[in-house]
Amino acid sequence: MKTIGRRVFLKEGFAGALGLAVASGAGLGSLNACSQETEQQLKKAVKAAGSYDVVVAGGGPAGFVAAIAAARQLNREGARQAGTPDAQTPRKRVALIERYGFLGGMATMGYVAPLSVFAFVDKEKDPLHGELVIGGIPWEFVQRLEQMGGAFIEWPKANVDFDIELYKLLTQRMVLEAGVDLYLHSSLIGCELAGNAIEKVFIENKNGLESLEAKRFIDTTGDGDLAWMAGVPMQDNPEGDLQPSSFCFVLSGVDTQSDLLKNCMYHNGLNGPSQCVPVREKLLQLKADGADIPDFGGPWFNNVLHEGSVAVNITRTAADSTDNRNFTDAECRLREEIFLFTDLLRKHFPEFKDCYVSSTAPQAGIRESRRIRGVHTVTGEEYVRAEYYPDSISRGAHPIDMHASKGSAQVRITLKQPAYVPYRALIAPDYPNLLVAGRCISTDRRALASLRVQASCMGTGQAAGVAAAQSIAAGKNVQDIDTDALVRTLREMGAKV
Ligand SMILES: Cc1cc2nc3c(=O)[nH]c(=O)nc-3n(C[C@H](O)[C@H](O)[C@H](O)COP(=O)(O)OP(=O)(O)OC[C@H]3O[C@@H](n4cnc5c(N)ncnc54)[C@H](O)[C@@H]3O)c2cc1C
Repeated sequence: MKTIGRRVFLKEGFAGALGLAVASGAGLGSLNACSQETEQQLKKAVKAAGSYDVVVAGGGPAGFVAAIAAARQLNREGARQAGTPDAQTPRKRVALIERYGFLGGMATMGYVAPLSVFAFVDKEKDPLHGELVIGGIPWEFVQRLEQMGGAFIEWPKANVDFDIELYKLLTQRMVLEAGVDLYLHSSLIGCELAGNAIEKVFIENKNGLESLEAKRFIDTTGDGDLAWMAGVPMQDNPEGDLQPSSFCFVLSGVDTQSDLLKNCMYHNGLNGPSQCVPVREKLLQLKADGADIPDFGGPWFNNVLHEGSVAVNITRTAADSTDNRNFTDAECRLREEIFLFTDLLRKHFPEFKDCYVSSTAPQAGIRESRRIRGVHTVTGEEYVRAEYYPDSISRGAHPIDMHASKGSAQVRITLKQPAYVPYRALIAPDYPNLLVAGRCISTDRRALASLRVQASCMGTGQAAGVAAAQSIAAGKNVQDIDTDALVRTLREMGAKV
């Protein structure tokens, strides 16, 4: 049985690729992996599902925005060339692959809230007003969600609390409105390359194994799965340290009208720290007194727009999301801890005396894993001094927010100015048709500790989508596009770059 390896499709062709599928028992019916005919049978089992201009892998904040941006830009380019208005050129030219049955990434699969942060607040000059730094499609999404009753914008930072189910609905609506072909319940399992150009990706779903061809690919899997499969060099991590994973959940039966919750549920930067300090202090005290309480973070109680319910971020453990066994162990441990912490809250805080776990997130949240080694790597130093790049395509306003992999500590460095992200952090030097966006772009650990938040991921997703479309229109590799034109288009769309 084969193990999943880098560039397995490149090195071993179909047999290697299909070894992957056999290893995961993926939808191959009664095929016997040991028989002589297997390779031929498996080759036939791969169905060509579609040929696109752009395939986006991963439907989180970076991915759904990238897919919309690419589809709209391709339609604009098509309309310009044909001399017709946008609306008359609908064509399915973009595909979005997502392994869950819904979009949203960590917001909906990890119950991570709020969406941080769309605005920058200069605390010394004007602590009550924020300057919007992430605009365009991401902000359009927030405004539409608000109109549906699914978002509450916490000014001045423009942290956005949201209703998890309406978030799923609106992402899907906007993606489909843009004319994107959606492949839900589909896991990316490999790719085929010619040189360093990706020709097609392979997905696995209930249809079996399928392939999708495209001219450009955007990796928005959070873990950089596609880039890794294609052999793109990743950032070193000599200490092997990663920010911890946390398994978030929704507690219902909570007194959300109490002073404790009213103070702790909002993260606008005006009410002190976003952590719930009284609960944190009590838990630390119990621990110091000898209670058997595991490491925890925060805690953070997040508004889900429903009276009596809060999304809770409290559990934490060191975990590697790119190692299935390691992540499985971590998630099982954290699931136990969800109930342990719920008992503690019930016992020690009257505001939680009737609470119960009404749902756990589909999976534990991941703060840090693979990141590509791009043409440019954004460092923490550049980020903190708000280095401006000629190819700046997005911004970041969240503090550098580093959670310790062990214990309950967290280091936060507030930014004095909103930071910039260069286009060169979204591309690797030698991969002519691959872009990445979101958490797996090229940054060091400190810059990631800010850029990983969802508004910033949406910002890089928007830029990657437009860049992919423009590189196709110009017939140029992603390394050679006209970045002035990219920045101009992003500004026209409302991006604050
Ligand atoms: C506990 C925790 C708390 C956080 N708190 C906040 C916060 O308060 N505010 C904030 O803004 N951010 C917060 N973050 C960070 C933020 O949620 C993530 O960094 C962000 O969602 C990353 O976006 P992304 O689009 O890059 O990846 P993701 O959100 O991880 O989305 C990736 C998508 O790709 C899909 N995918 C992955 N691999 C495959 C595959 N092989 N095939 C098919 N699909 C695949 C996934 O299912 C997912 O939908 C927090 C994160 C954690 C873990």
